Amino acid sequence: PAPEPTPEPSLEARRAYELDRAHVFHSWSAQAELDPMVVTAAEGSYVWDGAGRRLLDFSSQLVNTNIGHQHPRVVEAIQTQAGRLCTVAPQHVNDQRSEAARLIAELAPGDLNRVFFTNGGAEAVEYAVRMARLHTGRHKVLSRYRSYHGGTHTAVNITGDPRRWPNDQGAAGTVHFFGPFPYRSPFHSASPEEETERALEHLEQLIGFEGPDAIAAIVLEPIPGTAGIMPPPPGYLTGVRELADRYGIVLIADEVMSGFGRTGRWFAVDHDGVVPDLMTFAKGVNSGYVPLGGVAISERIAATFAHRPFPGGLTYSGHPLATAAAVATIEAMRDEKTVENAAHIGEAVLGPGLRALAERHPSVGDVRGLGVFWAVELVADRATKEPLAPYGGTSVAMGELVAACKAAGLLPFVNYHRLHAVPPCTVSEAEAREGLALLDRALETADRHVRAH
Ligand code: PMP
Repeated sequence: PAPEPTPEPSLEARRAYELDRAHVFHSWSAQAELDPMVVTAAEGSYVWDGAGRRLLDFSSQLVNTNIGHQHPRVVEAIQTQAGRLCTVAPQHVNDQRSEAARLIAELAPGDLNRVFFTNGGAEAVEYAVRMARLHTGRHKVLSRYRSYHGGTHTAVNITGDPRRWPNDQGAAGTVHFFGPFPYRSPFHSASPEEETERALEHLEQLIGFEGPDAIAAIVLEPIPGTAGIMPPPPGYLTGVRELADRYGIVLIADEVMSGFGRTGRWFAVDHDGVVPDLMTFAKGVNSGYVPLGGVAISERIAATFAHRPFPGGLTYSGHPLATAAAVATIEAMRDEKTVENAAHIGEAVLGPGLRALAERHPSVGDVRGLGVFWAVELVADRATKEPLAPYGGTSVAMGELVAACKAAGLLPFVNYHRLHAVPPCTVSEAEAREGLALLDRALETADRHVRAH
């Protein structure tokens, strides 16, 4: 049952908050400057705070609850599995792991028929890169500046997002390149087609200068997520696939955020019919109900390790509770046409609705996305495209915008000067419209900063 709203946070919520502030060390944060929100309950597209206030979850909790909160089939599958068998070492066979691998292989494009399970996205990226290096016998890895691949060693070094800066140990062999981004084109191109052409030219030149025989992998998010949800212009992904083939480079698609329905297809590469050699996933595979990630592996790369041991592994690889949750999640998403719903919501509600907001609000510089994967880019000045917060930083204006969203009853995902509208794939038309109305109200705050600029 939904909690009752109260004028003040409950005693339990206050205690949880105080213990958190005393003992929990939070990710990516200056610990003393935090004022985190207490979440006490969730259902479908909503979460409840410590005072029993309901907020529409347009963040999907770091973009992972694709199936919505507390889906009864997934909750039941976890409970049932907990009653049967809670843990099994990775060297043994477990029915839930086998079935999850079968379902993922069936959904994944091309011959990505084998699955190495991890506990999350960053580990999946670590292992995909290791597989590519061992398979090719090469060491360099190319990745985009506008990207996020995880917080662990290799994953953060190949990340382009400013979170790499304090972590970067100049890891040998990680090289960044510019991907296409028509709104802020690094190539000053005049059309999406030209952007594709120049971005591919740039990548091929970079391969030439780095030495094709030294490059193990190109890693990219088919649609970059945290870095700004930029759907690639036509032909770009196909072009990258061709370059990878031409130079014998492994193509790793990082589908940790874009996979499992987020973009209105099972995987973002499906929009272009591109088949990567390795594909990382996490988040939506079981909507984060139990930590799970993995790498889907092509037959060709899997064959490298047929008679040569793969040097890597994890105690919890293919954990029974996590894979039971994945089986239930994928089956429920198929039965309930969740991916189709995400596509429909993007086309019928979020796309047109956000574009209408962009017309009304001078603080909105650009709106882009698809499915339930949308970015609203906030600017101080539409003509110069000056961002409302500096690259890698925060601003009073963005802080006030987030506060206004929460006050209105909307929980957004925010990164620097962007607000991402990323509700669960199960979001209804009415809920999506409600989110747009709340956002409409909150954007007035950002508009005031633009007028004062
Ligand atoms: N890759 C991508 C594309 C991601 O979006 C993320 C997480 N936001 C990661 C990797 C890292 O995943 P995790 O936080 O589960 O380690």
